[in-house]
Amino acid sequence: MKAGVAKPIYSISPFTLLDYPDKTACILWFAGCNMRCLYCYNPSIVLGKGKIRFEEALTFLRSRMKLLDGVVLSGGECTMHKNLIDFIIEIKKLGLLVKIDTNGSNPDFLKHVINEDLIDYVALDFKAPKAKFQNITHSDLYKDFTSSLNLLTHCHLPFEVRTTFHSSLLDSKDLQEMVHVLENLNYTGSYFIQHYMNDTETLTKLENSERAQFNASALSTKLKVVVRN
Ligand code: SF4
Repeated sequence: MKAGVAKPIYSISPFTLLDYPDKTACILWFAGCNMRCLYCYNPSIVLGKGKIRFEEALTFLRSRMKLLDGVVLSGGECTMHKNLIDFIIEIKKLGLLVKIDTNGSNPDFLKHVINEDLIDYVALDFKAPKAKFQNITHSDLYKDFTSSLNLLTHCHLPFEVRTTFHSSLLDSKDLQEMVHVLENLNYTGSYFIQHYMNDTETLTKLENSERAQFNASALSTKLKVVVRN
C-alpha cells in the first residue's frame, strides 16, 4: 500500500484469546469515533489521536504471523478511517483473518468489504432501541445501524450482536424490543448482553449499574441470548 502520513491506530494489543471466537488474534485500536456512548470504556481512544501508521502496523503483523490466526480491528470506530480497505487487503495478503468490531454506522463500508470477501467476522454493537439511541450514543445513526444489521442478516458472513446493559440506561422492555428487532430480521445467532462494569473509567461518569434487572432466558425462544460478566 502507499506510504501514508496519517496515524489512524491508537494502540495495539499484541495477543488475545478472547476477542476473536476460537482464534488467536491481536487487536488494533483505531482512534476516534462518530458516537459518544455514555458508557464508553475507551475515552482516551475515542477522544485521542492515533499514534501508529498502517505501515507500522503491517510490520508488526509480519513479525507475529506465526502466532496469530487473525486481526481484530476495533476502536473507536475503525470503519471511519480512510484507506482502511487498502489496509485490510494488505492484511489478507498475509493470510490473516479479519474481524471488525463496529457500531454499525457505516453500512456502505460493510457492504463493500463483504462483497469483496475481505472480512471474516463482525461484532456489531446494538446500542439501544430507536427511542433511546440518540440519548445513549449522542448520535443520529440508528438508521445506519439498522442498515448494517439488515445487511449482515442477509449475507453468509458470521457475525454476532452485542449490547452493553446499564440499569439506568436500559430496562427489560428495551431488551425485549431489541430482541424483537433481531427476530423480525430472522437473526438466529447469538445475542450477547454485557453487563456494564461498575467503577471503570467511562466517557461520561455514570452511577453504578444494578444487576438482575432482566431474565435473559425469557427474552427469546429463537435467539441464543448470552449474558456476559
Ligand atoms: S462505545 Fe460508543 S463511543 Fe465508545 S468506541 Fe464504541 S461506539 Fe464509540
